[in-house]
Amino acid sequence: MLTDYHLHLRPDEEDTPSDRSSTTENVDHYLEAARGAGIAELGVSEHIHRFTQALEIWRHPWWQDQARDDVDAYCDFVRATPLRLGIEADFVPAALDRTANFLERNFDYVVGSVHFLGDDAVDHDGWDIWDRREADADEVWRRYFEALAECARCGLFDILAHPDLVKVWGAGRPVPERDPRHYYEPAVEAIAESGIAVEVSTAGLRKPVGEIYPAAAFAEMCVEAGAVFALSSDAHLPEHVGFGYDRAQEFLRGLGVDQICVFERRRRRLEPLGPAAGENG
Ligand SMILES: [Zn+2]
Ligand SMILES: [Zn+2]
Repeated sequence: MLTDYHLHLRPDEEDTPSDRSSTTENVDHYLEAARGAGIAELGVSEHIHRFTQALEIWRHPWWQDQARDDVDAYCDFVRATPLRLGIEADFVPAALDRTANFLERNFDYVVGSVHFLGDDAVDHDGWDIWDRREADADEVWRRYFEALAECARCGLFDILAHPDLVKVWGAGRPVPERDPRHYYEPAVEAIAESGIAVEVSTAGLRKPVGEIYPAAAFAEMCVEAGAVFALSSDAHLPEHVGFGYDRAQEFLRGLGVDQICVFERRRRRLEPLGPAAGENG
């Protein structure tokens, strides 16, 4: 089976109102793209910051700017389609109880992400952590992977999104000189202890870094630690559904992984990795 669970119905850059992206017509385009790519399980995981209820969790100025939609209307809309219902929720360390309350809806899975360290973002120009004069590659990477470890351990999430997102800018931002495995270690330990599924995301192929999340060395450490994997494109457009999946499957098989996680009502099972019969081979 192939899955694409971490996807969005509209681009981040565009301020598309939800009444234009949350339409059955838009969903049909995603479903059609999934069929073409042999993806049997398709789910949507809209960003939590899109929803006004998320302001009860965090009132970051950027969230305040983005929060327009009603999360219950989103859940109702997605439940009326063939899509699995997910959400991409940020790890907000000071608000785990409030995040847990928000997540008490009938999601099939919750994708947990670290986009921010404090008020600064690792993947967002507007709040770029690298704009801080004191930003130092060693410190940013250390803090990022420590936050990722806490995100894995907090128990609120089923899937750990784009696990080494801090590399998103590639050579466009400072990169530490030491072996990256040094930074990965606390996160991999937390993954092993928590049992959270590790996302293999092809989104990195579309970003300046030009590689899959996570790096092969990170994924190898996860395999050694007995982790399981979930597969997604982080699409924001129908044409991104299943993007780079040949490379992702090769990546997983190269690690000796032949099963991926499938979710329903927050229960996980493993299915053999591979496209649905009759489509892409
Ligand atoms: Zn994300
Ligand atoms: Zn996303």
